[in-house]
Amino acid sequence: MKGALLRYVLYRIKEHPDTEVTYEAECLWCKWTAQPSTDSEAVDVECMSHTGRSGHKGFRRIRTSFAMVVRAE
Ligand SMILES: [Zn+2]
Repeated sequence: MKGALLRYVLYRIKEHPDTEVTYEAECLWCKWTAQPSTDSEAVDVECMSHTGRSGHKGFRRIRTSFAMVVRAE
């Protein structure tokens, strides 16, 4: 269109500053949940310990992060 000014602005999404990724897990077979942690390995170890005690082998793992959309320069 003649005379029209089309302007495109690019954005990207990134981890929100001053936030941490947290990991959680819950057993699929009972109501057990792992202690939430910023250390994914610690949560995995807790799951394996729960399996050792209970024989429960299925877990729902949750990774929570915060995001922020910023203008791409
Ligand atoms: Zn369980």
